[in-house]
Amino acid sequence: MTIAENTENLSEKVRDFISSPRKILINGQWSDAASGKTFDTIDPATGEVIVKVAEGDSVDIDRAVKAARAAFDDGPWSGMNPTTRERYMHRLADLMEENADTLAELEALDNGKNVAVARAVDIQIAIDFIRYMAGWPTKITGDILPMSVPYAPDAKFMGYTLKEPVGVVGQIIPWNFPALMCSWKLGPALAAGCTVVLKPAEETPLTALYIGELICQAGFPEGVVNIVPGYGHTAGAALTVHEQVDKISFTGSTEVGKLIVKAAADTMKNVTMELGGKSPAIILPDADLEIAIPGAASAIFFNQGQVCCAGSRLFVPDSLYDQVIEGLAEVANSMKIGSGLNPENMVNPLVSQVQFDRVMGYIKSGCAEGADLIAGGNRRGDKGYFIEPTILGNTNREMKVVREEIFGPVVCVQRYHDIDEVASLANDTIYGLGASIWTRDVGNIINIVPKIRAGSVWVNCHNILDVVMPFGGYKQSGFGKDMGKEALAAYLETKSVCIMA
Ligand code: ADP
Repeated sequence: MTIAENTENLSEKVRDFISSPRKILINGQWSDAASGKTFDTIDPATGEVIVKVAEGDSVDIDRAVKAARAAFDDGPWSGMNPTTRERYMHRLADLMEENADTLAELEALDNGKNVAVARAVDIQIAIDFIRYMAGWPTKITGDILPMSVPYAPDAKFMGYTLKEPVGVVGQIIPWNFPALMCSWKLGPALAAGCTVVLKPAEETPLTALYIGELICQAGFPEGVVNIVPGYGHTAGAALTVHEQVDKISFTGSTEVGKLIVKAAADTMKNVTMELGGKSPAIILPDADLEIAIPGAASAIFFNQGQVCCAGSRLFVPDSLYDQVIEGLAEVANSMKIGSGLNPENMVNPLVSQVQFDRVMGYIKSGCAEGADLIAGGNRRGDKGYFIEPTILGNTNREMKVVREEIFGPVVCVQRYHDIDEVASLANDTIYGLGASIWTRDVGNIINIVPKIRAGSVWVNCHNILDVVMPFGGYKQSGFGKDMGKEALAAYLETKSVCIMA
């Protein structure tokens, strides 16, 4: 398949968007990179170039940060009254809704994922979250504090807190849910009154740049949102050390998260880190397997396993092991593999050659360490980055595939013998992002949920995200939350004010 074959049914709007090199958005203007350089964004279904994109580096980041700084300090956004700020955000959400099919198509093209899923999940939640956050500017309030200063008993004081935007925020996002991550980051920053420099992942810059167009159409004041595509070690790194950036919000690997926390420490930036995971899905002996088997399959195979909270370690009691393995293999072997632009294909390419090689390396490693290859394990086709949904059985905690995040369609199934040991087995990881338990017994839920060290625990479901539910990790999966009202708190400072009468 060539890109022309893969993309022959694309809409006019998407064709138009990819017909010329895409640029950088700084201070409301689209421009080339200062260096004049570009990079290619690739169609993962064919391995061919979709379009060239301006390659921002530290010079462009500096210009973008200065624009965001001026927009923040001069107050066209931070000082705007909340109802007006809210209206801009609703306008953006409306434009995203009007362009939802285009955004979904562009996402499917750039990331490789299923276009119908992108429309129903990625893009819809991205829109809903901007709307959810648009409701907050009018509800950001401090407290009145009853004061009794012991060393000034005769004076009268009034104390209160003001909630203020953190300032200029650098937002660095990954390639697995590009438009959704863009919304998760922009929504609370804009609601709080912050200004932004956003760096999309180099693998998938297109939907963020399209949203940039919509931000311009919505009439946001110049410099409020700046979008600089480019590489992590150049553009991303420049953002993390820029002295005029007040906060970094990052979603990506734990490895890069650690580099960013260290880099941001020199200027003591406020940081939010949503990092990797190795999330357990735990089938309990009383589980309804009609739900648990397809649920466990979707926990890992959704988005080709390129999900930071994917249920990549599946715990199954001895008593159910054969039945679960058989059911899971049936699901894996029946999934249709192919380009995400055809909505019938439920297994789509991984995002890049690098990711493909990494995942194939893990599959080999798992087999070499003695895991049973129950299903999949192979490349599909000779073009693009397709890997069959893969099940590794009888895995154990010593294996690399169980300890490390694979970020691909590979589930490691582990047996357990005793329900009392399962929470500690599930917690036996450096990560703590998500977990699911599958049971019909409310007692199990009450007992096990508090024992799990993870930021999200799902019961009889997995990977369910909602705009109202805070999402973020424990342990080396990071700190701070995206979504829900806690996401807003991460973009606010508290100022204590004391007035003496
Ligand atoms: P993944 O493992 O999902 O590819 P990464 O953590 O490598 O994720 O990348 C997530 C984002 O972080 C991307 O936008 C990438 O460009 C950026 N990034 C990578 N390295 C750095 C770095 N040293 N400093 C800042 N950003 C970086």
